[in-house]
Amino acid sequence: MPDSNISSVGFRRRPLAQPRLLRSQALIGGAWVDARSGRQFDVVDPATREVIARLPDMGREDTQQAIAAAERAGSDWRARTAKERGILLRRWFDLVVAHQDDLAAIMTAEQGKPLAEAKGEVLFAASFIDWYAEEGKRTYGDVIPTYSNDRRIVVLKQPIGVVAAITPWNFPSGMVTRKCAPALAAGCTVVLKPAEDTPLSALALAELAQQAGLPPGVLNVVTTGPDLVAEVGDELCQNPAVKKISFTGSTAVGKHLMRQAAATMKKVGLELGGSAPFIVFDDADLDVAVAAAVNSKFRASGQTCTCSNRFFVQASVYEIFARKFVQAVKQLCVAPGNEPGSTIGPLINRQALEKVDAHVEDAQRLGARLLAGGRRHALGGTFYEPTVLADVTTDMLVCREETFGPVAPLVRFDTEAEAIRMANDTRYGLAGYFFTRDLARAWRVAEELDCGSVAINEGSFSSETVPVGGFKESGIGREGGHHGIEGYLEIKQVCIGGLR
Ligand code: ADP
Repeated sequence: MPDSNISSVGFRRRPLAQPRLLRSQALIGGAWVDARSGRQFDVVDPATREVIARLPDMGREDTQQAIAAAERAGSDWRARTAKERGILLRRWFDLVVAHQDDLAAIMTAEQGKPLAEAKGEVLFAASFIDWYAEEGKRTYGDVIPTYSNDRRIVVLKQPIGVVAAITPWNFPSGMVTRKCAPALAAGCTVVLKPAEDTPLSALALAELAQQAGLPPGVLNVVTTGPDLVAEVGDELCQNPAVKKISFTGSTAVGKHLMRQAAATMKKVGLELGGSAPFIVFDDADLDVAVAAAVNSKFRASGQTCTCSNRFFVQASVYEIFARKFVQAVKQLCVAPGNEPGSTIGPLINRQALEKVDAHVEDAQRLGARLLAGGRRHALGGTFYEPTVLADVTTDMLVCREETFGPVAPLVRFDTEAEAIRMANDTRYGLAGYFFTRDLARAWRVAEELDCGSVAINEGSFSSETVPVGGFKESGIGREGGHHGIEGYLEIKQVCIGGLR
């Protein structure tokens, strides 16, 4: 029977192989449910502005129910062995991989990113499930040499308890599994609140988790729109049954959640905004730097927190780098994400578009030179032309704030010290990129940059095997790699006495 809350408009081109993946309800305690109030909110395709789904607009009581379901499921889940949990996670991984085309189509419909990029993200998302299915078995403790002959001391690692995961719209699947997979593998249960712009990918992943055999209540998904998100967030942060808040999103919301979580002293894992520097030294291979610049700036239309935000180019190679970069940028294809050849989709919403407009106007008013783009795209809606600005100075908004759009501002520098000073002159510290063929400089600059991820002669660094997170106001904690499961574990020392 067709579901009246799901529209087929987003999937005209290619119907889904498994229509069941498109859910129109939230998941609580293993049951697909509406909001108690009956309220709904719209999910919109950013490429067409058409409504593709109406989902439960949940509030405080629904959230309490989800937390209670997670708490109830917790005692059985944590009592299972890591191997048993790993087997279920591995089944989930297999299903995600098997349904990658459907999951990518859903993501493109709600997020806008080109289909090929969406498929890449689905596999990236799957990789976290695979990795943590194994890593859960390796949450080793310690045996500590005793400080007294009648005692022995061991250190255990135990699941922290109910986790609230709040995820953003720019990676609608990747951020879900980067949080849920380690949490579940560690023995925690989860209440997931996906972003209001992109909840369908999260629900599809949850449907596959159900199909994999995850017990009811182990993974719950609360959907909510812009009106009730603060209420839901408040409940997640203040409810004493929740032991950890794991959030990826803006620094402003991250600070707000951390303040709220302080009341019950919840652990927090925060991956927040960034303003990644991209430094091109005069000894760099410029073709490598140009290809990496395009990748690191324009993936997801520039809407990721690890995207390069500020380009610093050494004066002697500035003009040639700019010329080559503009040539490459002109090859990008702005089109709806489900059209063949699309490499740049729409921005997520009007606010995002207005921010990009404001940044580009400010830069031009303060003397920046437009080398490419610089305006809304002829396709209308929230499409924006890939833009390159030259003669940018660090007082402009494009350097002071996160643009979160397809805009590359090029700043000139003379010395290595000057580049490092400008690169670090930000409250953020998530990622940094630089290009050099000098080995000593590579080490020096890598050590000097104040950020959690540094890529040398590369435009990306994402993998399930590595820790990602921020220095300074870019966050707390790390996700990915063997470090990524630590945030879901409590450490307990056990002292055994009376051993005479
Ligand atoms: P952006 O500005 O890029 O949209 P946000 O930080 O607003 O990033 O959003 C990231 C996530 O945080 C989304 O899931 C969003 O719904 C959620 N969010 C926004 N405000 C709150 C809040 N007050 N409490 C809890 N979650 C929130």
